[in-house]
Amino acid sequence: MTFSDLNLIGTLTEALTKKGYTTPTPIQEQSIPHILEGKDIFGCAQTGTGKTAAFALPILQLIHAKGNTPKGVIKALILAPTRELALQISENFHAYGKGTNIRHAVVFGGVSQFAQVNTLKQGVDVLVATPGRLLDLMNQGYIKLNNIEYFVLDEADRMLDMGFINDIKKIIAKLPAKKQTLFFSATAAPEIMKLANTLLQNPVKVTVTPVSTAAELVKQSVYYVNKADKRDLLRHVLNNNNIEHALVFTRTKRGADKVVKELIKSGIKAEAIHGNKSQGARERALKGFKNRTIRVLVATDIASRGIDVDKLSHVINFEMPEQAETYVHRIGRTGRAGESGVALSFCDRDEMDYLKDINKLIKKTIEVVKVHPFA
Ligand code: AMP
Repeated sequence: MTFSDLNLIGTLTEALTKKGYTTPTPIQEQSIPHILEGKDIFGCAQTGTGKTAAFALPILQLIHAKGNTPKGVIKALILAPTRELALQISENFHAYGKGTNIRHAVVFGGVSQFAQVNTLKQGVDVLVATPGRLLDLMNQGYIKLNNIEYFVLDEADRMLDMGFINDIKKIIAKLPAKKQTLFFSATAAPEIMKLANTLLQNPVKVTVTPVSTAAELVKQSVYYVNKADKRDLLRHVLNNNNIEHALVFTRTKRGADKVVKELIKSGIKAEAIHGNKSQGARERALKGFKNRTIRVLVATDIASRGIDVDKLSHVINFEMPEQAETYVHRIGRTGRAGESGVALSFCDRDEMDYLKDINKLIKKTIEVVKVHPFA
């Protein structure tokens, strides 16, 4: 199966070749033809499956085919839960849409609205947004949604987790009744289905790698270690396992800062990314990590949502997550789009119950590293 088999036009397939994509991922294979036919989609898929391209490519093609009339009004709205994810989606539109004259913009909170408003004033066809800033700009009269033909709700489960349900309802109320809706969620929990049912008309259901099996490609192991020894173990692991590039998770923002401080003291280039950092600092850290000037990025769960780094080889759980599903999301940062990855977890005595829940969810027992200096 190639992208041309999915009836994608040359402009798009050329952009994909440039990105180095040769074959569509399962979600792309299963969704793109239906979206091109104008169907609504309920996609049960998480980040890492290639779902961004699964909706971005057909939307670009559909808008392109219509020859951009009327010009410069927003025809497609993509709602994402976090700034990082919104930025990444917008980067995808940029990369895939290079050969088209479709204009896109991204708006999110935490930064001045000045540049965003200026871009909007020039007219955009595709808008990627987080809910809060979108509503804010709508209320100020900078954004009108009455010409929306394509609406994407990405990571709907995260949106609900993060308490965006009322914002989403307000936004949906402003959309025209006639539109094509693409709904993506990692889970199909009852409240998700309720929201989906209010939005979708005869949707095509596409399910890939449910959350409990998404971790299959990732080689996982766990170190039993005292809390007080975790920082030494991290240094040891980074230096002895030939780890060039790692995303490290902590439970708290303070914890993230502490780990970074220790790593820098030992000469390891590290940065933290969490909610107390300014948007500028977060973007700089992410950029440094992506271009490999920063070896270790230490993140909290919310800040890490949707972080997408090409060829990320290692994820390290410095602290075990309280929710087993969070573990799967964390390790899903590696082993993306069919590549293999490694996930190491540091588990202290107080975290054993979390580990048990994780083993239950992923339906296997994570291998224990028996020999290490801090065992
Ligand atoms: P996503 O689930 O959209 O966040 O995508 C996960 C990762 O897979 C991103 O790094 C994409 O750039 C990459 N990707 C998406 N589609 C493909 C493809 N067909 N072949 C290779 N990589 C892909």
